[in-house]
Amino acid sequence: MNHRIWNLFAFILILFACTPASPAESSRKLALVGGMLLDGYEVPPIHHAVILIEGNRIVKVGPSSEVTIPSDAEVIDTRGRVMMPGLIDVHVHLQILGHGDYMRWDPWIAKNNLVEKVAEISAKQLLNAGVTSAVDLGGTLKSPSDRVIHGPDTDIPGPRMAVSGPWITRSLGEGFYSTALDDQMLIDTPAQAAAAVDKLAAAGVDVIKAYVDLDPAHYKAIVDAAHRHKLRVHAHVYDPTDVRNAFEAGVDVLQHVGSAGVPLYDPALVKAIAVKGTPVVVTAAHRAFLFPATVEFPERLQDPQLKIDFGPQIWDEVQNSLQRFQRLSYFSTTDQEMRFSRASLGQWIDSNVTLGMGTDSGTPMNFHTESLWREIKAHVDLGMSPQRAICAATRINAQILGRGDELGTIEPGKLADIIVVRGNPLFDITSLANVEVVIKDGRVYKDARK
Ligand SMILES: [Zn+2]
Repeated sequence: MNHRIWNLFAFILILFACTPASPAESSRKLALVGGMLLDGYEVPPIHHAVILIEGNRIVKVGPSSEVTIPSDAEVIDTRGRVMMPGLIDVHVHLQILGHGDYMRWDPWIAKNNLVEKVAEISAKQLLNAGVTSAVDLGGTLKSPSDRVIHGPDTDIPGPRMAVSGPWITRSLGEGFYSTALDDQMLIDTPAQAAAAVDKLAAAGVDVIKAYVDLDPAHYKAIVDAAHRHKLRVHAHVYDPTDVRNAFEAGVDVLQHVGSAGVPLYDPALVKAIAVKGTPVVVTAAHRAFLFPATVEFPERLQDPQLKIDFGPQIWDEVQNSLQRFQRLSYFSTTDQEMRFSRASLGQWIDSNVTLGMGTDSGTPMNFHTESLWREIKAHVDLGMSPQRAICAATRINAQILGRGDELGTIEPGKLADIIVVRGNPLFDITSLANVEVVIKDGRVYKDARK
C-alpha cells in the first residue's frame, strides 16, 4: 500500500507544478494592469490597480498612478475586470466527477483504467474555475501511471494540492470508495487510530481526515498523533455529539457542520468554537442548494463544458447516473436539509465563527467547474456579505491550509496566485463563475479574455 501512496504523492507533487523554474522564468516579469483589486482583506477595493509579479512572487501592488511598470514586463490588460487572490477550496475530491453513485463509479473507473484520467480532469476543472489551491479529503490511492509520474508531460494543470489519503473511521459510511479500494483506514481502538495516523504520515499525507462515528478517545488519539507529525486534523462531523467530541479533542477543522438539517446546535458549543477560533467549513451547497438548483434547471447537468472536459466515455457514464437524480440515495434527506438550511447554516454564519469555504467538490451533481462559486453564493444567500465570503475562500482558507504567510491575499512577498473575473463580485457574487485569467505560482494557466 505504501508504494501506491507514494505513487499518488508523486502525482500530486506533479500537480503542484513544482518543476523548478528555469533562471529565465524565475526573473520573468508580469504586470496585471487596470482592473479593480480585491486583495483578500475586508477593506475597500483598489480601483485601476496594478499587480507586479517577478518569477512566482508578487513584488508590488497599488493604484496605477503609483506603480511604475517595468519596460521588460509582460502586460495583462485587466481593465474593466476584477483581480483577486486565487480561490482556495478546503474540501474537494479529485477522484469523483459528479457521478450519482459511488458504488458504481469506483469499480467502473478502476475497471476502465480511468483513475489517473479522472484526477487529471478534476484538477484541470478546478484550476479553470479559479481554484489555485485545494485540499483533497479522501481519494483513492490507486497508482497513476508512470506516464504521469515520470513521463514528459510532468506539468499537469491543477491547483496546489494538500491531500489526506484515506480517512480514518470505524465504519465506511455511504459505501464511499468501499468497493474499489482496499486501503481504508478502518480502526477499532484509539491505539489503532494513532497507528493509522503514523502510517499515513509515513506515506506523506498533508492532512488527516477523521470520519464520524468515533468516540472522544479516538479523536484524542488521532489529534495527538497527527500533531506529533505536525499534521492538521479535519473532522467530518454532522451530528451534534460528533461535533462536540471532535471539537473537545482539539481537531483543527470541523467539516460539514451545519449542513445536515439537524436541530440547531447548543449555543454554548457554538460559542466555545467561535471563542477558540476552530475553523468551521459548512459545505452549504452540495445538497441543500444544489438539489433545488438542479430541479429548477436540470439542463445544468448537460453543461457543454462538462462534455468537453469528460470525453465521451465518462460523459455517458455520468449522464446515465444522473437521469433520475431525484431518486439517488445521496439526496434521500435533502428535503429536510433544504427546509432547515437557513436556520442551521445561518447559525454558524451569525455566530461569527471562523468560517472557511469548502465544497465537497465532485460529489453527485457537484461539478468541479462550478462548485466553489455555488458554495460562496450559498453563503451570501444565507446572509454573509460578498466580501466576507470571498475572504473566507481566500485569506481564511489559506490560514486553514497553514499557508497564510504565502497564499490567500494579494500583497508583496506572497506567491502569485491570482485570478481575473468579469463583473463585480461585490455586487453580484455569481461573477465568480466568469473566471477569465488564472495565474498560479506566477504562471498563466488560463487566459480567456476576448
Ligand atoms: Zn468530502
